[in-house]
Amino acid sequence: MNEPTLTIVVPCYNEEEALPETIRQLRALREALVAEKLISADSTLLFVDDGSRDATWDIIYKASLRYLEVKGLKLAHNAGHQNALLAGMFAAKTRSDCIVSIDADLQDDIAVIRDFVQKFQEGYEIVYGVRKRRDADTFFKRHTAQGFYKLMKAMGVDLVYNHADYRLMSRRVVEALERFEEVNLFLRGIVPLLGFRSTTVYYDRKERLAGTTKYPLKKMIAFALDGITSFSITPIRMISLLGFVSFFVSVLFGIYFLVLKFTGYTQTGWTSLITSIWLLGGLQLIALGLIGEYIGKIYKETKRRPRYIIDLDLFNLPLPQSRHSS
Ligand code: UDP
Ligand code: MG
Repeated sequence: MNEPTLTIVVPCYNEEEALPETIRQLRALREALVAEKLISADSTLLFVDDGSRDATWDIIYKASLRYLEVKGLKLAHNAGHQNALLAGMFAAKTRSDCIVSIDADLQDDIAVIRDFVQKFQEGYEIVYGVRKRRDADTFFKRHTAQGFYKLMKAMGVDLVYNHADYRLMSRRVVEALERFEEVNLFLRGIVPLLGFRSTTVYYDRKERLAGTTKYPLKKMIAFALDGITSFSITPIRMISLLGFVSFFVSVLFGIYFLVLKFTGYTQTGWTSLITSIWLLGGLQLIALGLIGEYIGKIYKETKRRPRYIIDLDLFNLPLPQSRHSS
């Protein structure tokens, strides 16, 4: 018997509406995969409560008492989607051969986890779930996402197109990830960098099971900015380039005004003066803001703060049998 042990890691933030159904469906899938002898019987589902303020943890905790395969990890505060994922993966890695990460709202078709595991058995260490279509997403989400991929590409960051955080990783991959000590770990950018044998599986993205998105515009912008600034210094280069161009243009203007002056035409324009002041002021502000963005990043990294703090870990408790032995 050498079926791999799989852990499905599910970050959950205020997901009380979707969770009961998510737990039901994932349990059924796990059951089926175990029956098909694709994964071992000690495969588990690990729900990471990312500091939710609703009944999310209650639901996870009760399910973990009821079903041995359901595990929970409770973070002490809202550490964010990426960190919740990392917390789950690192907690699960010693007891798993492979780990699948998936969102709690089941927008991603869970049936392809079967394909993920098959690919893993064929020797792939990373399997990316890629969305074939995104019809189910709102018009706004689709276009902002598209813009994000284009922008990242322009900035020289290699992302798997239309792949979010739905993927399988072998234990070796998770161990490699653990060696990236940067506090701000942008998984979608780092994982392709690792260079392990990888492949993709396509699926259709559905609508959210229940509840509302936990990624409002504000979080989306922060996510995109973090992604860019933690991977690319292109923005800084572009600012320098812009600086050179505007310097060159103002020299030309200077010459032009001098010529006007010496040809006796002294009505040099107030308009051009005020425009250049505003233009340069704007450019400087943009440049400062961007530099600040990177300095902020350095500031955060030098503090070496923990990415997340675990409140309760039901995954790495003594083995489940002990629960019934007393
Ligand atoms: N999530 C999280 N912490 C957060 C925000 C989101 O763990 O601070 C989880 C959320 O519960 C979900 C996943 O991250 O399982 C993706 O969020 P969501 O489905 O709301 O994002 P969308 O699909 O709208 O981009
Ligand atoms: Mg979602």
